[in-house]
Amino acid sequence: MKYNRILLKLSGEALAGSQGSGVCNEVLNQICDEVKNLHKMGVEVAIVIGGGNIHRGVAGATKGMDRTTSDHMGMLATVINSLAIQDCLERKEVKTRVMTAIEMAEIAEPYIRRRAVRHLEKKRVIIFAAGTGNPYFTTDTAAALRANEIDADVIMKATKVDGIYDKDPVVHKDAVKFEELKYIDVLNKGIKVMDSAAISLCMDNEIEIIVFNMFEKGNIQKVVIGDHVGTVVKK
Ligand code: UDP
Repeated sequence: MKYNRILLKLSGEALAGSQGSGVCNEVLNQICDEVKNLHKMGVEVAIVIGGGNIHRGVAGATKGMDRTTSDHMGMLATVINSLAIQDCLERKEVKTRVMTAIEMAEIAEPYIRRRAVRHLEKKRVIIFAAGTGNPYFTTDTAAALRANEIDADVIMKATKVDGIYDKDPVVHKDAVKFEELKYIDVLNKGIKVMDSAAISLCMDNEIEIIVFNMFEKGNIQKVVIGDHVGTVVKK
């Protein structure tokens, strides 16, 4: 295996499936089946899930909400999604722990780095919830931060398309896919794959990002054994 410890970044929107918002049971099951397969291969898996299917801070702010309050709502949305993933994985007999960046000990463990690493060593899947715990950040930044903290080999960013394109492939038929990109090019060209804070964190610590389509069966396993899938962002 090329990667032994991975951080899987899932967007909240993906969880909504075709229903547009909330949690789609079919998609949830599909994602958890893939995670279970990864876990069976012996890979140590940490997950960061977004909250866009329920609430996005910026969206609330544009409607006049206080940005910090709106971001708090967004972080709580990621907790809801994390619990949905935990529940589904546990029903598939995968041991998990949800760790939150904002304390809510009745619901999940608070994030403590050494504890997180211990869970991984014991082959428990960790789901990092509540982003970084701070407003004005995104779950992409949370993914980059946690990946660095737990010393993950790679960030696997699951999307609906099979990598990064020069323009939106859903809208433009002539969009060209990048097989590989440098961090600095993502930043300079303003390629919208992760926000700049997340890319910078990965660049400073040389954590590779693989952007791939998780909904194509077996893709996630291919990445882990080192087959080229999607787009790789590296030095
Ligand atoms: N959020 C935040 N701080 C963080 C992570 C997330 O305030 O460290 C809030 C922010 O409002 C964001 C929302 O949580 O819009 C949901 O996360 P995100 O937009 O990253 O979800 P995704 O786009 O992956 O579904």
